[in-house]
Amino acid sequence: MIEKTLVLIKPDGVQRGLIGKIIQKFEDTGLKIVGMKMVWADEEFAKKHYTEDLAKRRGEAVRKYNTDFIKSGPVVAFVLEGVHAIENVRKIVGSTEPKSAQPGTIRGDFAHVSYDHCDNKKQVVKNTIHASADKKDAEYEVSLWFKKDELHTYKTVHDMHIY
Ligand code: ADP
Repeated sequence: MIEKTLVLIKPDGVQRGLIGKIIQKFEDTGLKIVGMKMVWADEEFAKKHYTEDLAKRRGEAVRKYNTDFIKSGPVVAFVLEGVHAIENVRKIVGSTEPKSAQPGTIRGDFAHVSYDHCDNKKQVVKNTIHASADKKDAEYEVSLWFKKDELHTYKTVHDMHIY
């Protein structure tokens, strides 16, 4: 039940100065940051993150928008650990489309664009953040972005109330 999941503050989140506010939302829940760094991805790495699977689900154009966008500037990558971390983090992040994302979620609070708008403009949905979708993606993405020795085991004040 204790899981690890990958989060990226995408270039729009970094450039809009949202790093602190976004991290605060996770820290407030008691999820533990077990690894963190700033990374500027190249094309090859971008394609490893946004895999063929995204093209199958959303189309080749959307995959290209994403790989181009994620390599356009640095991202803040971190791994969160906690009870049902994968599902909990996705809940805090909110729906993919900011227009549909609930207030209180990161995408609902910090963005508002729609699929329609982005499709018309032929541009990526800038929704500030990425979080692993499920257990399989989390395992793949955590090991893609972080080496084993970049992930840490330590105690926080939350542990006595959680474990
Ligand atoms: P999520 O990031 O919520 O897991 P997906 O994996 O389906 O969603 O899509 C990856 C990213 O692609 C989204 O976060 C969003 O930035 C972008 N995206 C999804 N659908 C579209 C679309 N129709 N047009 C442009 N960008 C899109």
